[in-house]
Amino acid sequence: MNDLFGSIGQLPGVGKERTERYAKLGIETPFDLLYHFPRTYIDYTKPVWVEDAPNDTPVAVRCTIVQKIAPVYTRSRMALYKILATDGMQDFIITYYNNPYTYRALQTGKEYYAYGRFTGGLLRRELRSPQMQSVENAMLLQPVYPQTQGLTSAMIRTNVKRALSMLTADVETLSPALLATHDLMTLQQALRAVHMPKNTAELEKAQRRLAFEELLLFQLGTRMLRSRARTETVTPMDPATDLSDFYNALPFTLTKGQQLAVDSVIEDLCGTVPMNRLLQGDVGSGKTAVAAAACAFAAKNGIQSVLMAPTEILAQQHYHTLSAFLAPIGLQPVLLTGSVTAAAKRKIKQQIAEKQAMVVVGTHAVIQKDTQFADLGLVITDEQHRFGVAQRAALAEKGGVPHKLVMSATPIPRTLALIIYGDLDVTVINEMPKGRLPIQTIAATGGYRYRAYDFIKQHLDAGEQAYLVCAMIEESEQMENIKAASSYAEDLRKNAFADYRVGLLHGKMKAAEKEKVMAQMKDHELDLLVCTTVVEVGVDVPNATVILIENADRFGLAQLHQLRGRVGRSSMQSYCILLTDSHKEESRERLKIMSRTANGFEIAEEDLKLRGPGDFFGNAQHGIPPMLQTALTGDMPLVAETQQAADAILRADPDLRQQENQSMRLAVLRLFRKNGANGLN
Ligand code: ADP
Ligand code: MG
Repeated sequence: MNDLFGSIGQLPGVGKERTERYAKLGIETPFDLLYHFPRTYIDYTKPVWVEDAPNDTPVAVRCTIVQKIAPVYTRSRMALYKILATDGMQDFIITYYNNPYTYRALQTGKEYYAYGRFTGGLLRRELRSPQMQSVENAMLLQPVYPQTQGLTSAMIRTNVKRALSMLTADVETLSPALLATHDLMTLQQALRAVHMPKNTAELEKAQRRLAFEELLLFQLGTRMLRSRARTETVTPMDPATDLSDFYNALPFTLTKGQQLAVDSVIEDLCGTVPMNRLLQGDVGSGKTAVAAAACAFAAKNGIQSVLMAPTEILAQQHYHTLSAFLAPIGLQPVLLTGSVTAAAKRKIKQQIAEKQAMVVVGTHAVIQKDTQFADLGLVITDEQHRFGVAQRAALAEKGGVPHKLVMSATPIPRTLALIIYGDLDVTVINEMPKGRLPIQTIAATGGYRYRAYDFIKQHLDAGEQAYLVCAMIEESEQMENIKAASSYAEDLRKNAFADYRVGLLHGKMKAAEKEKVMAQMKDHELDLLVCTTVVEVGVDVPNATVILIENADRFGLAQLHQLRGRVGRSSMQSYCILLTDSHKEESRERLKIMSRTANGFEIAEEDLKLRGPGDFFGNAQHGIPPMLQTALTGDMPLVAETQQAADAILRADPDLRQQENQSMRLAVLRLFRKNGANGLN
């Protein structure tokens, strides 16, 4: 019955309800649970003297219970439990409210570690509702798990303990040689130690082993994808294909960076190996024109292209932009999104199947659903930092072996790019179209709000437009955001901006509504657009010159940079106002970085240092394991070490067919499959 890979329900205390809660966290087996790593650890290794313990700060003390004082019941039927304790130097009182269990469990005369916050003056210190562990079997580094879905840390700890007891040596993924060469713990040791560390040194060693494994598997996976793609062949396109009509019809001349990017794309298209290229360029660097050139080149070679965007709005916009660039040369793109009517969809799909439509723009979901291409040869994805390597691998399945170009608007630090995009060649556009004035950015407190409104009005009066971003909280709390945005917009319409046309855009609006609002903004039927972060995704309204961001401290720098990129899209001077009421030094510092630099890559580096790599990977469920995230921030040498290890392994055994690499191969497949990719097998 002890099945590490069976249902989590077999663990004692895990009934139907808790099984469901675990399932929501993606944990279905005891083994999965072992990969639910602690968020942090309570450190009992250095208990303080009560005398030295500051108030209102969590501390650990070692103490003996002197006397359990009889409970007191307040008039509101609260039970107050008081316990007299001492650390040998000073007496103090432990109090619990409505917690008879802990009170009863504590034994007079026995020694405990207590962890909590002190209150009170020198003479009468009080420790409120501390966590207690008896000294004889204490965990000196007690894991604290991310507490979600009604699962407390204590419950998880108990379940983990049991799961650990089921763990055997044969879960090992790395070969003995690899363990020895890189001085790594076994997987069994590491999992045990990460959940029940004896001391900090052991914990660090365990974390290193787990991070090593994740980095290694990830890199093995991307390298295998890459070399697999390299074994496929395509019919090369003609390098003599003439694009001059395309260039002549463009409303501008490509920047040097754009031209270089187009050149490398064309070189790929004229090769026999399918293109696998990442086009990285800061917001506003003009990636769409590069995509358009690629589509034109392919079409002239009789090959169909598709440009996929993560959202409806963005697909719309790409469609308009590509139409403007390509229609003049007789290449009218078609649009496939959720809001296209069924009848229209059928017609468009027929055009695609019959090769009347050479360039298709749309959302991933719609395009991937039963669209038959006559001759699809080029897939362009506008990634906007939402898609991981696994999604791209899944994409690679579709339509034989098309050339693939991924456009990413999130500048990514070099090391990260190497890992996330290990399967791709990278082109960076590191220059902006000429004539752009740097956006002036200021960070201010909420007290500045009304002056900021006046500032915005001046610009609206001059015929310009503005955004007001008011996502109050994280994206996950969507409803709250929408309420906030709606009531904010309502308030502005009635009061501060009564004389202006104020629009509202949020994530829960129907696609058609969003589209309408965006179109109004583009056509200058709105002066001010109040929005949640949905506006972040590549929206292009060149006449918008001011963006005000409420609660700016809640956003990652990369995201602020994206938002800021909504303005400064023409030759007019633009402004970004970051409002925050946070008094934290750290938030202030972060916002100052925004005022200091407009360079997305620099901002990305800072963001990586300050917040870890989470932001670059988007949703954690979409590909990047947490231990890897930790490793990436803290331990770049480990990244290099695993890169070398992955290269060495694949040099000796390109498909991981050798006996000693079997479990590693399975682990790579597991990692990539879990994330939706079937590109490896
Ligand atoms: P992003 O790289 O953020 O996707 P876009 O492709 O949306 O950037 O381009 C941003 C804006 O710059 C668009 O309005 C586009 O028409 C314009 N643009 C692109 N390339 C050039 C250029 N070489 N010269 C002038 N404007 C350009
Ligand atoms: Mg774009």
